[in-house]
Amino acid sequence: MPQPLIERYRRWLSLDEGDPVVTLNEGSTPLIHSPRLSERLEADVHLKLEGANPTGSFKDRGMTVAVSRAKGQGAEAVICASTGNTAASAAAYAARAGLRGAVIVPEGKIAVGKLAQALMHGARVIALQGNFDEALAIVRELADRNPVELVNSVNPWRIEGQKTAAYEVCDELGEPPDALAIPVGNAGNVTAYWAGFQDYEASPVLYGFQAAGAAPLVEGHPVEQPETVASAIRIGNPARWEEAMNAFTASRGRVAAVSDDQILDAYRWLASSEGVFCEPASAASVAGLLAHGMPVADGAEQPRSVVCVLTGHGLKDPDTALGKAPAVINCEAELDTVERAVFS
Ligand SMILES: *Cc1c(COP(=O)(O)O)cnc(C)c1O
Repeated sequence: MPQPLIERYRRWLSLDEGDPVVTLNEGSTPLIHSPRLSERLEADVHLKLEGANPTGSFKDRGMTVAVSRAKGQGAEAVICASTGNTAASAAAYAARAGLRGAVIVPEGKIAVGKLAQALMHGARVIALQGNFDEALAIVRELADRNPVELVNSVNPWRIEGQKTAAYEVCDELGEPPDALAIPVGNAGNVTAYWAGFQDYEASPVLYGFQAAGAAPLVEGHPVEQPETVASAIRIGNPARWEEAMNAFTASRGRVAAVSDDQILDAYRWLASSEGVFCEPASAASVAGLLAHGMPVADGAEQPRSVVCVLTGHGLKDPDTALGKAPAVINCEAELDTVERAVFS
């Protein structure tokens, strides 16, 4: 039985003794070797399948800690702004903890699976006529004015929990990887990985990738109207901007942009060539490595072992998948016709 990550890594998390453990047995996600990506990148590449978490994304790592803390402190409700996965995760952990949950999402801009999750877990779902950045600004004020716990990645406990993914990578490989590739939206996750690696006295080169239409860290200024097919990283003004940039600098890595076409190509390629179905935002990490390679600082060695973080499950966003996949072949219930359809 995998342990809840709070039990597995309690010594690294600054939880109070008395806090309850609100868990769905998150973490301990598969780290699988990727033979085809290894070949294409001439390195030893592993994929960290964060879609295998209970609600289908890495957000559960932070949420188990944030909601445990909130419950321990006597909160009655949690609230967040979300591009989808934070909403799904907050709703699930709130239900588990017996807390009320409210999530504010950009109207019409979240993947249908995530919406279904948030609703099924009983959260109040508010669709904002605005983008994620506006939603985050509003929930920050709401949390100041009301007795609710804000569980966006501005919540330090979210980062605490998400550090555990870096621990797992090092523990599983037996040593830290030379490099780590990760999609970047609000920049909480890259901040958390870097903090986790530092706890382990490791410093892999961090390669962060943003979608070209939502690449404030690459452009060096906020993006007013972020646009990309990768809805989970459709963010124009990341809350963890400075920490993320510090992590890229300290690790001698960098942040770069990938186009939607590159993201979708990597998305489909991973599913059809490696049997790994992640969501479009997750594929940005693979698209980025394929598009940009692994540039290193002067005098530094080329990374040999690389971990690519696949942040969420492909089933979250069936619309994008069906829009990108080959057509279904319709067929009469007749042997010869079916035979032709299958084998031609
Ligand atoms: C939240 C999320 C991201 C972005 O993580 P940040 O911490 O906001 O940078 C990437 N991919 C998926 C699937 C996500 O849910």
